[in-house]
Amino acid sequence: MELRHRPFLIVISAPSGGGKTTVKNVVLERMPEIAYSVSATTRKPRENEVNGVDYIFVTHEKFREWLSSGELLEWAEIYGEFYGTPKSPIMKWLEEGRDVLLDLDVHGKRSVERAFVGRTVSIFLLPPSMEILRERLLDRGTETGEVLEKRLRLARSEMDHAFEYDYWVINDEVEAAAQEVMNIIRAERQKSNRLIYDEFHETKILDFY
Ligand code: 5GP
Repeated sequence: MELRHRPFLIVISAPSGGGKTTVKNVVLERMPEIAYSVSATTRKPRENEVNGVDYIFVTHEKFREWLSSGELLEWAEIYGEFYGTPKSPIMKWLEEGRDVLLDLDVHGKRSVERAFVGRTVSIFLLPPSMEILRERLLDRGTETGEVLEKRLRLARSEMDHAFEYDYWVINDEVEAAAQEVMNIIRAERQKSNRLIYDEFHETKILDFY
């Protein structure tokens, strides 16, 4: 007997400076069957950022067009620039039976949960301690003094939403955190209510054989 599951969306969030990108990349490398939803943005690419990989970089005009046609699953305006999640690639992947990973903040997570009721799994990556989070922000070298304090305050307020998530993973060591995330995904795939069967007939366990 082979079990097939109805594909679902995995939303990962973390406070800024939480090292989410590295963990996400390890998971995607080890589980290449999972599709990754690349966000669209109107902001200019930073050095080393690749179009279609880090973001889909679009003009304000294109973004407005997507907004009015309903192409964005969720969106936000941050410091005058727009960010959003394109819908059609996600619909295509789900139809192909692929689970989809999304890297979103708490607002994005809530929108996705409203759009795909019962078909999401949310994971919050926690820093091992606030002291380590401070050190990680310092290590980036870009955050000092007031900016660092502001970022730390932001991280604290983001962590207040951790209770809304299905799972918590402590992001102490990248490999261990990625393994935890993969364990969660594997367990979710085995849930009986995600199994595919003909919805118009009452299914009994023996029907699977
Ligand atoms: P940055 O410009 O530093 O890459 O990202 C700025 C902010 O935009 C981050 O807080 C990030 O979480 C948020 N962001 C990135 N992509 C999306 C998206 O698709 N939707 C929403 N709502 N926020 C996003």
